[in-house]
Amino acid sequence: MKNKAKPQKAVIAIDGHSGCGKSTLAKSLAKKINYLYIDTGAMYRAITWYLLENKVDISDEEQVAQAIEPLAITFVKSETGNHVAVNGEDVEKYIRSMEVSKSVSPVAELKVVRDKLVALQRQIGQDGGVVMDGRDIGTVVFPDADLKIFLTADVETRVARRVAEYLEKGQTISYDAVKENLTLRDHIDSTREISPLRQAEDAVVIDNSHLTKVEQLEQVVGLLRERGFAV
Ligand code: C5P
Repeated sequence: MKNKAKPQKAVIAIDGHSGCGKSTLAKSLAKKINYLYIDTGAMYRAITWYLLENKVDISDEEQVAQAIEPLAITFVKSETGNHVAVNGEDVEKYIRSMEVSKSVSPVAELKVVRDKLVALQRQIGQDGGVVMDGRDIGTVVFPDADLKIFLTADVETRVARRVAEYLEKGQTISYDAVKENLTLRDHIDSTREISPLRQAEDAVVIDNSHLTKVEQLEQVVGLLRERGFAV
């Protein structure tokens, strides 16, 4: 029997808790190996932003279903990489607000929301050559992903990094408010009924609390090479 040929381009799943730098790693990896980067958190945030903007009651799944059914969630090219778009409008600048951050986990618990976005994510990644980050990529979206990373960092490090990110954008936000949001989202994301955040059995765990961005990137590139991918 012939060995199944190794696909040219991998599907790489990066999951983990809120604020541990999944997007930073996924983005730099995709750039380095010339893969597509898909930020699935941005997709959940975009839907949440739309629902808030249109005053949809997010506790009413029927209302949410009607509101999101016709929505086109896509990615558009920008100078700083791909941005998520709702019906063609680039909404990147709205989706990182604390208002969206507070509502996104309850919205992401809804089956109707997950069904829509998981289908879209599978479609985007079906041909490989993709780095996707989120909470359920290695467990649900691509359980056969070629490489699964479960990224973690201690909570103090995660909060400090997120506060610094807001500062870079000229926004001041208290350490406590960020910590409360990250820990609450982790709790909701890990305990929800559908696709809870958990480490896939075959995921490689990387704790980046004491790693530089370059070191974590090199680790992941090394793992891909070990698996036979020419990167
Ligand atoms: O990655 P980010 O922190 O931007 O994700 C925002 C929220 O979107 C998460 O806290 C989680 O509730 C939801 N999410 C999810 N599944 C994914 C990606 C994000 O439920 N694959």
